[in-house]
Amino acid sequence: METLKEFKLFVNLKKNHMPEQQPLLKSILALKCSRCRQGDLFVEKNTYAFKDLFTMHDKCPHCELNYELEVGFFYGAMYVSYGLAIAICVAMFVATFVFSFLFSSEINFTLYLILNSLALVISGPYLYRFSRTVWLYLFVKYAPEERGKYIKKVD
Ligand SMILES: [Zn+2]
Repeated sequence: METLKEFKLFVNLKKNHMPEQQPLLKSILALKCSRCRQGDLFVEKNTYAFKDLFTMHDKCPHCELNYELEVGFFYGAMYVSYGLAIAICVAMFVATFVFSFLFSSEINFTLYLILNSLALVISGPYLYRFSRTVWLYLFVKYAPEERGKYIKKVD
């Protein structure tokens, strides 16, 4: 009986102390830390406020995860960025294809160049941040219980 009571107390404690789990896709799109899904990766929240576009926190403000796992860690994000940029180019080509054939019988390549350039320039800043976030999510799994685990306590 006593054990059951203790167990219930333990479960309640866990419930109260564990933050609600954020959905994976929502956290990635919102550029949140991969370990706690609470802290921001970038200092300036607004991607299109160009002043601090590239400035990242060194550590997660919520769980203290050191974002740069090793020297040059985020160079790998270029693979993600490249893949996404190609996906945008293909999507714009399909859009041009559909638009062109709605109004004439051949593909309008000038329209493609304009649409594609616009899409890449507009999505560029977000793509930069998004690919870094995805890269971090590939290497650090969700583990909110590790919050503050590696912080040295000073007595
Ligand atoms: Zn975190």
